[in-house]
Amino acid sequence: MRVAKVIVDVSTSQTNHTFDYLIPESWENIVQKGMRVSVPFGPRKVMGFVLEVSDHSEFDKLKPLDEVMDLTPVLTEELLQIGKWISEQTVSFYIQTFQAMLPQILKAKYKKEIEVLTDVEIAEELQQLFAGRAVMDFEEFVERNGNYSLLLKEVKNGHVQINYIVKSKETNKTKVFIAPNKEPYLLEEALEDTSNRAKKQKRILEYFLEQTTPIEQKQLITELSTTTATINQLVERNLLKKIEKKVYRDPFQDTDFERSKSLPLSGQQQTAIKPIWQAIEEKQDEVFLLHGVTGSGKTEVYLQAIERVLDKGMEAIVLVPEIALTPQMVQRFKSRFGSQVAVLHSALSAGEKFDEWTKIHKKEVNVVVGARSAIFAPFENIGIIIIDEEHETSYKQDEQPRYHAREVAKKRGNYHHCPVVLGSATPMLESYARAKKGVYHLLEMPDRMNEGEMPPVEIVDMRDELYAGNRTMFSRNLLEAIKTRIEKKEQIVLFLNRRGYSTFVMCRECGDVMKCPACDIALTYHKSSHQLKCHYCDYQIAMVKECQACNSKTIRYFGTGTQKVEEALREHIPEAKVIRMDVDTTRRKGSHKKLLEKFGNKEANILLGTQMIAKGLDFENVTLVGVLAVDAMLHLPDFRSSEKTFQLLTQVSGRAGRHKLPGEVIIQTYTPEHYSIQLASQYHYQQFFHQEMQTRRGFRYPPYYFLTLINVSHPNQLKAQEVTKTICKLLFKHLSDEATILGPTPSPIVRINNRYRYQCMVKYKDEPNQREIIRKIQEHYYDDIHRNDLTIQVDFEPYSLM
Ligand code: ADP
Ligand code: ZN
Ligand code: ZN
Repeated sequence: MRVAKVIVDVSTSQTNHTFDYLIPESWENIVQKGMRVSVPFGPRKVMGFVLEVSDHSEFDKLKPLDEVMDLTPVLTEELLQIGKWISEQTVSFYIQTFQAMLPQILKAKYKKEIEVLTDVEIAEELQQLFAGRAVMDFEEFVERNGNYSLLLKEVKNGHVQINYIVKSKETNKTKVFIAPNKEPYLLEEALEDTSNRAKKQKRILEYFLEQTTPIEQKQLITELSTTTATINQLVERNLLKKIEKKVYRDPFQDTDFERSKSLPLSGQQQTAIKPIWQAIEEKQDEVFLLHGVTGSGKTEVYLQAIERVLDKGMEAIVLVPEIALTPQMVQRFKSRFGSQVAVLHSALSAGEKFDEWTKIHKKEVNVVVGARSAIFAPFENIGIIIIDEEHETSYKQDEQPRYHAREVAKKRGNYHHCPVVLGSATPMLESYARAKKGVYHLLEMPDRMNEGEMPPVEIVDMRDELYAGNRTMFSRNLLEAIKTRIEKKEQIVLFLNRRGYSTFVMCRECGDVMKCPACDIALTYHKSSHQLKCHYCDYQIAMVKECQACNSKTIRYFGTGTQKVEEALREHIPEAKVIRMDVDTTRRKGSHKKLLEKFGNKEANILLGTQMIAKGLDFENVTLVGVLAVDAMLHLPDFRSSEKTFQLLTQVSGRAGRHKLPGEVIIQTYTPEHYSIQLASQYHYQQFFHQEMQTRRGFRYPPYYFLTLINVSHPNQLKAQEVTKTICKLLFKHLSDEATILGPTPSPIVRINNRYRYQCMVKYKDEPNQREIIRKIQEHYYDDIHRNDLTIQVDFEPYSLM
């Protein structure tokens, strides 16, 4: 008896374990760990992942599984292990994690087909089924009781492959090929029977007398200057046939990649790369933190580390934040490693992503460059994992499973005995602290390539503008600087923060922002109750009428959008050509790339945008970077707001003067004295690190403490509040005395889609039972969650506190 232990696609806490199914005899040798199967579950058939194959079961009557969905495992042994670990760490369901590790398409409806790849004779029994066809439906194979072990053998030999054909047209890219449908002597007979008036048909038949392999329809039409109609006539006569072949969609195929060679490394690059090379050679799972200023040549270090890995016949994973995964970035990898590179990017269609994933799965590539989920690339011989811009919050998934790609990378590095390289100009405080403690191996690259200087930063005090009667969003200096660049035909990048969700209040006269005395974060203005609230603890006061610091009455809420800025620019500098890049203008696929190309071709003077223009861009002609209102970010109700501001300013500044022309940066703010702004303008990472660490220690935040954020939502406000209160009580009772439990408090965004949101935050040093307690709490609310529309979200080490 063979038994498959299966995790089924039903996300509830009661089904979060394996179920046993009997493997029918004909599949006994086929079913392996990591394959997907279809199984009966109650009245339904559901998909499931095989976690184990065993020869016994504790249960008596086992139902047999219905179908094997894969002939080769889609999850490797390693990924199964990691999936289990992630589910446990994030308190999510196993099924959620396994699905998150695979391309979306494998969840959708699709059809499978079997394709013969070689001219070599395949097994007799299969040949009979194919009956001369190159492709057959998998369903047909099943119906006609095809021999699975034979098929599997031919798949392993590489003679046959299984294609997943997505039913939706949009994601399915195929090409039509034409091939003869009859033996040559029959075609010859047909040729003679064809009337001389049908010259075009004759030419095609003659062509296929000599040429028996399929040819793409398009090509046939050009080569023989014939028409689709003529081909169709021959297809109708059963002499030719049409074959649809799946082709890989290559999202970057329109770009020609000039091959690049590795550059002779600078001194600091050599010092940095040596220990990485050594770890590759010695198969050490060391974690490196590469702290290098923007333009210090980190990417070249990555490239040459990867080169070493490829030389050894191993594979490399490179993670780049979604918004930095620009065509420029991709090009740097493709031009070095050519078609060995697969790219996984969320802007790809589901089909394109699947194609890239397939290349990895089949080991047709050995480098993958991608956003967060590329960390699950099904490589089996990894030699290095690189995470660029490691401080980026997008490496943390913001829905279940809430994993952090960095932690998964370390786990995979551990499994493969390979180094993990975390690179950044502004490492996360947590990472730098670990490097300082020696947990990570710190590599510093403090200088820009070619003795390039970081551009000087000017801080403009917007309060002075107000005194001088300037009520616009541009300071006089910035306007002047923009005009000068336009005259010199140089370009400008203007940066505006993403509008914060919550509103903070600030005095426009003195820049003072009201903060919570206990949590050190900006208080949030609640319009309905006209109050200022801290959303970490329950501190609240009535909205103030005048500034607490200077008694001025110029208290304002904050926030402005890119569109408004664009209008204002038109008004003040009518001659400026502006490209606006934000969520609205980049919604359509490819528009991001097009807008950047336009700017690169100097079709505009100013690139105006949000976060998405802060990273990875490299334009020779940009000599001025302006940051319009840094305060919106500085006062987000988030204990990381200072750090995020520092990171952002550093990134943005790095966009100016990267080449021959000297650059300049202008930052506008109402709080010029803030240490984030001051230290960023002087590029003092170390000093910032020390100062920020003190704040974190004082207010008991990471990296000194860990955080857990529990978010409860329900259409009924009382219910949400009630449940959160109970959760707080339960945590208080079961966690140790060392833990601090804050809440219940309304979340910063109190209501989304008519659901009320409350939260509870735990600060702790070490709570080994925490996850178990939280699982129990979720089980306790099982009925409310499944029947009463309650959600309880838990985020360990949260990055977003909204
Ligand atoms: P970072 O990734 O640290 O921001 P980059 O890798 O983009 O830095 O390097 C900045 C510039 O220096 C790029 O234009 C790059 O081509 C160039 N560069 C990097 N390393 C070298 C080298 N060893 N020799 C010459 N130029 C280099
Ligand atoms: Zn004031
Ligand atoms: Zn507080």
